[in-house]
Amino acid sequence: MNLETTEIVKKLLASPQKIVIVGHKNPDGDAIGSCLGLSFFLKDMGHTITVIMPNEFPDFLKWLPGVEGIVIHEREREKSTGLIQDADLVFTLDFNCLDRVGEMQGILENCTAKFVMIDHHQQPATYALATYSDVKMSSTSEMVFHFIEALGQGENLSKEIAINLYTGIMTDTGSFRFSSTSPTTHRVAARLIEAGAESAIINQNVYDTNSPERMKLLGVALNNLVILAEFCTAYITLTQKELDEHNFKKGDTEGFVNYALSVKGIIFAAIFIENKQENIVKISLRSKGYFSVNDFARNHYSGGGHINAAGGKSSQDLSKTVNEFISILPRYKNELTDAS
Ligand code: 5GP
Ligand code: MN
Repeated sequence: MNLETTEIVKKLLASPQKIVIVGHKNPDGDAIGSCLGLSFFLKDMGHTITVIMPNEFPDFLKWLPGVEGIVIHEREREKSTGLIQDADLVFTLDFNCLDRVGEMQGILENCTAKFVMIDHHQQPATYALATYSDVKMSSTSEMVFHFIEALGQGENLSKEIAINLYTGIMTDTGSFRFSSTSPTTHRVAARLIEAGAESAIINQNVYDTNSPERMKLLGVALNNLVILAEFCTAYITLTQKELDEHNFKKGDTEGFVNYALSVKGIIFAAIFIENKQENIVKISLRSKGYFSVNDFARNHYSGGGHINAAGGKSSQDLSKTVNEFISILPRYKNELTDAS
């Protein structure tokens, strides 16, 4: 975090504040881990903190220290709205634009609080008084660590902070695999382990708690895998019916798209998931190397993200969405070649 932003943040936090910390819709491990990690830090400084998420989050994160205090906006609209309207400060974490919070957008736009953004997505919006944005960062959770260090408190990490930030970094880097994982990411992870984050236990809690239904749904997804060798592309589809037959719960399809990307020679992978309730198809995109799925998601699916991981949605039905996807690929033929 640069000196100017650090000075603004120090001034904002100089006296006890009522603070709300907000993550993005469909929160993932990084959104939850970074928000909770920051919440413990700010609480230790003497501020009053509430973490608010727009909607539900997956069961594999429900063991994290502090989850019991999270307010889910979709479940407690009045409480969440009141907290935001009453806040002195709002921290927005792990998203770059207020349209990522769903129906909370208007409430945030109309509140009187000052905003602080901590985020690693491309093209950050300019709503915050203090913006700490760095697209090279592995995760927002890593950035929260740097934020704490910039405020001179890097030696005072509690176990609760360490566990939350480690989980966020681990999940957003695909267990330290993605190219966003830097030497500094590993140094930060080491510091978090020293502060009490037990890597083996965190891995078990996140990755070894699958329900049998989720494993069967993965089987269906893998069965639906389609390879478009000509474009070094692979995609997976899941219909609402397939989800219903496997008692789908939020988070169950997390990571499925990576199986498509793991096929030899594939550099672009997509998963299309039917969501009848929202009347959309939710799309997750992944790539290897220089092919920007952030651009692809922005251009075709009103979405965004990072160069190698992005998402968006389509309001067409599943088969139309997939057909359109296939028809778009020839435009990218030159980029969709396996350089390895
Ligand atoms: P996932 O595919 O795991 O849901 O998301 C991958 C990345 O893309 C994450 O960084 C996420 O924040 C971003 N992302 C996913 N869906 C959307 C979307 O609908 N809009 C935008 N702007 N970003 C998204
Ligand atoms: Mn993230």
